[in-house]
This record gives sequence, C-alpha cells and structure tokens, in this order.
Amino acid sequence: MKKLENKVIVTTGAAMGLGYATALEAAKNGAQLSLIDYNAESLEKAKATIVTQYPEVKVLTTVADVSDEAAVKNYVDSTVSTFGRIDGFYNNAGIEGRQASMVDYDLDVFKKVVDINLMGVYYGLKYVIPVMQKQEYGRIVNVASVGGIRGVMNQTPYVATKHAVSGITKNAALEYGRYGILTNAIAPGAILTPMVAEAFKQVNPADPKQAEDHYAQSNPTKRLGLPEEVGKLVVFLLSEDCSYVSGQIIAIDGGQSNSY
Ligand code: NAD
Repeated sequence: MKKLENKVIVTTGAAMGLGYATALEAAKNGAQLSLIDYNAESLEKAKATIVTQYPEVKVLTTVADVSDEAAVKNYVDSTVSTFGRIDGFYNNAGIEGRQASMVDYDLDVFKKVVDINLMGVYYGLKYVIPVMQKQEYGRIVNVASVGGIRGVMNQTPYVATKHAVSGITKNAALEYGRYGILTNAIAPGAILTPMVAEAFKQVNPADPKQAEDHYAQSNPTKRLGLPEEVGKLVVFLLSEDCSYVSGQIIAIDGGQSNSY
C-alpha cells in the first residue's frame, strides 16, 4: 500500500520548487492531486510532467493567487466538487521579497510578503479546515522556514511572516486536533529551488555560484538540500503514518539551525 493511496492532496505553489517536488512525490505515493499556482503556464507544465510519469493520477489545476481570499475559496470549492474531500493540505506558496536592511525595506514589498506568506497561509486554513472538520480527518503541512525559528539578516518581512506561520501552525494544532486534524510546519534551510537561486543572485550578482558554495560550506553536511528530500518529509506528514505528531515546526536543514 502506497503512503498516500487515494488521498486527495491540495498543494499551493505547485508549479515549481518545493510545491512541485512534493506534488511529484505525492503522485508517486498514490495521491490524487489538486494543484494551485498563480503562474498558469508553469502550472500546466508541472501537471503535464506529473501525468506523463504517473498516468493513473488524477490532477486538477486551479490558477489562484493565495493572497486573494476569493481565489482561495474557489480553489477549495473546486477541489471538493471534483474529488469530494481534502485529506492533505500542503500550504506552501510563499515569496522571499527583496534583501534589504530593516529601516530601508520597501513598504510595498513588505506588504506583499505579508499578503502572500501570512494571509495566503491563513486563507488556506480558513477554507480547508471546515472541509476536514466534516470528515473528522486531515493532515496539514504549512511551510515556515529556518527564518520562522531564528533571524535572517536583511529579510525582515520574510522572517516576520515565517514566525507567524510557526505560530498559526501551533494554534491550528491546538484548536482542531479534536477533529482528527494534525497540523505541522516544515522549516527548510537552503533548498535548491528557483527562489533560492534568485536569493544567491541578490547576494552576489556577479557570481551567484560563489554565494551558493560559500553558503553550503556553513552547513554541517557541506551541501544545500534538494526539493525531493523535502517532498519525502512532507509526504510522511501528510500521510496516516503521521498519527501523533502535531503543532511541530520541523527543521529540514542538514542540522544547520543548531549551530551557534
Ligand atoms: P519557488 O519560488 O521556487 O516556488 C514557489 C512557487 O509558488 C512558484 O511556482 C510560484 O509561482 C508560486 N507562488 C508564489 N506566490 C504565489 C501566490 N501568491 N499564489 C500562488 N502561487 C504562488 O519557491 P520555493 O523555494 O519552492 O518555496 C516554496 C515555499 O518554501 C515558500 O513558502 C518558501 O518561503 C519556503 N521555503 C523555501 C526554502 C528554500 O530553500 N527553497 C527555504 C525555506 C522556506
């Protein structure tokens, strides 16, 4: 029996990076997929690759900006009308914003990071949790960051919103555990995705690979993480094998967040 056999899994930010890698891993493990992204073209490409590899998997795609409450309600409604239920929710879409010191941070970018990383995660929970409450079953994985556990230079709104995601995760676990809904967050370190590639470009525009190698050296494992490694952890947390873990912020960072 595969880990997510016939489970209906909703993934936001599914077109690339950690969302796409997790959707692929969920498909490999037998899930039916509802994939959400605001990049319509990349979302269709992601779907095409998944159904080529796993033709037995039913995939619904919905274009939505997670910071738009009506669009979030719509992706939840269309998932329920297509599949009848939501077993797992990978609440993943997020952005980094720009790198700048706190007092110089562009306010429009700051508010955009809050709208997507905090409000987008909250809207998802607001509309998915009632579906799971009726089923008396659900698994939710929010995406925080090591920036949801500690500070990161020049990324104030990112760190603020990721700490908020850690807090929301703990409250969802407290308020809805009695309905069989387990909620956790993952806190990835640097995982090689398009978002992280963009961050290295900002750190060293002339030589982003140098910035990447330098960063990798500070990790106990001397390397960055891979999206598929995150996918495997998330599939466990979305499965019935995860039966008594809730309200936790689980770092996946090669051990780096323990260093002083
Ligand atoms: P990414 O930029 O590679 O991919 C993000 C995906 O989300 C893209 O497909 C993008 O189109 C989509 N997206 C962004 N904003 C959206 C919105 N408002 N509505 C709908 N879709 C939206 O990023 P990633 O590295 O895969 O990051 C995914 C999540 O993991 C984010 O929440 C990020 O903060 C978190 N994270 C990533 C890392 C890492 O090292 N990659 C580390 C810590 C946390």
